[in-house]
Formats: sequence, structure tokens, C-alpha cells
Amino acid sequence: MIWPRASAIVALALWAFPLAAEALDASLRPQPRPDTGTATAANLLVTVARMRPNLRPVSEQILDAAARPEQLALSSPDTSARPWPRPPSIENKAMAKRKMRRKGAVCGDLKIQGETVGHVPGRIKACGIRDAVRVNTVAGVRLNPPALMNCKTASALREWTELGLKPAFRQRGPVVEMKVAAHYACRTRNNKRGGRISEHGKGNAIDLSAFTMMDGEVITVLKGWGQGTTLKPLRKAYTRACGTFGTTLGPASDRYHRDHFHFDTASYRSGPYCR
Ligand SMILES: [Zn+2]
Repeated sequence: MIWPRASAIVALALWAFPLAAEALDASLRPQPRPDTGTATAANLLVTVARMRPNLRPVSEQILDAAARPEQLALSSPDTSARPWPRPPSIENKAMAKRKMRRKGAVCGDLKIQGETVGHVPGRIKACGIRDAVRVNTVAGVRLNPPALMNCKTASALREWTELGLKPAFRQRGPVVEMKVAAHYACRTRNNKRGGRISEHGKGNAIDLSAFTMMDGEVITVLKGWGQGTTLKPLRKAYTRACGTFGTTLGPASDRYHRDHFHFDTASYRSGPYCR
């Protein structure tokens, strides 16, 4: 028997060196857990087994994903939260549309479609446009016929179409076309002999006489201004042009403008001139 002898040696050592025993108690090493007396080999095995995480069973989703063809892996909502990539055909179509719009855009604005004309010389010195564009559509609304103007005026027309014209006719519309009664023309104001050159002679102005709705209804300024149901949207659209344009003249202004809106981008020190 070895154990009694060993413990006798430990007891002897503790008797001989009591200080060493005290040092043992004061050690920083963690204390062993008290033995509950049941630490059999079997119990130990159970404890070790409990510490290991349980292996999850293989789910059906994982089996499905494994069985899927490789090229489908990314496009499957089962395996990835990424949105489905668009097929190239759709992407190409979208890009082609965008390219076309970019090609037809003038004044650096995709919403102004037309063609660049460049310098338009005037019949007389006071007329002419330095950088003219011929505008076909603004904010998706057709100009009939396409109108010659400068970019400042084209931009103002685009802004008014979006913020004034379209919202005013939201219930009747959408507006698909505006009838252009006049655009660039080298002439005097109201065609009066000896008068000052009109803003039309500088590419700053446009006259609009009617608006066509999607369903084919045509609302003219001449007739529409006199009727209740069309007066309201016409007036709303007209009023909104003030400020976007430097001058707005309409049926309420004078006898020259009974049948059209005159908008121009001449700027006055006193602010916009709206009648
Ligand atoms: Zn005019």
C-alpha cells in the first residue's frame, strides 16, 4: 500500500514546514471545486459531452441549395437575400432608352428634347439667337410645332410645364401637347411699326394657344378662359408662370393676348412683369 505512506509523508512535511502550508493556502491559483464524491469516470464523460454543442441536423433548405444548379445559386431567394439580377435584355433596353434620351437632350437637360441649332442670325441687328435650340418636348409634353428659342427660355418652359401646367390639369390630363402660336420671329412688339424689338426676336419668348389632353380634349386659351371648368386650370397654370418667366401676358392683360399666353425670359430690375 502506497497511499497511507504518502499521506504520512505529507503530514510529516506539514509538521516540519508549517509556513509552506500557509503559503499554499494564500496562493493565487484558483481553488479546486469541492469534491461532491460522485466524480466517477462515467459522470466525467457526461459532463464533457454536455459541453460540446449539439450538431444541428441538416435542414431541407441546405439539401435544396446543394441540389440546385450552380448558376442558379445567386438568383434563388432561398439561398440569398440579394435582389434578383436583371437579365441583360432588360438592362440593355433601359440603357438604349436612356442613350436615346441623352442623344435628343438639349441644354444639358434630359427633360428638354430637341436639337441644337446654334447661331441664328437676325434679319436686323437687334434680332437673332446666339445658341438656339429647336425644342420638341419639355417634361414629356410635345410642342406643336417644335419651337426655336434659347436655353434660358427652354429651361423656364420645362420648369413651368412641370410645376405649373401639369399640376393644373392633373384631373383632366395628363397634358400631352401644347400648341405653339409663336416662337422665334424677328419682329417688333405686338407687330407695331417702329416699336421695340419683341422678345420673340431674341429667342426669349413663346406663345401658347392651346393644350391637348391625353384623351384628345383640346383646351384653347380663347374659349377655355371664358368657361368655368377650363378657366380654373388655365388660370392656375398661367399664374404659376409668373417668376419662372420674366413676363407673362394672357387674356386678362390686353386685346393682343386674348387667344394665347405670352411667356418670355426678359429680366427686369423691378422683378417679373405679370398681368
Ligand atoms: Zn408673344
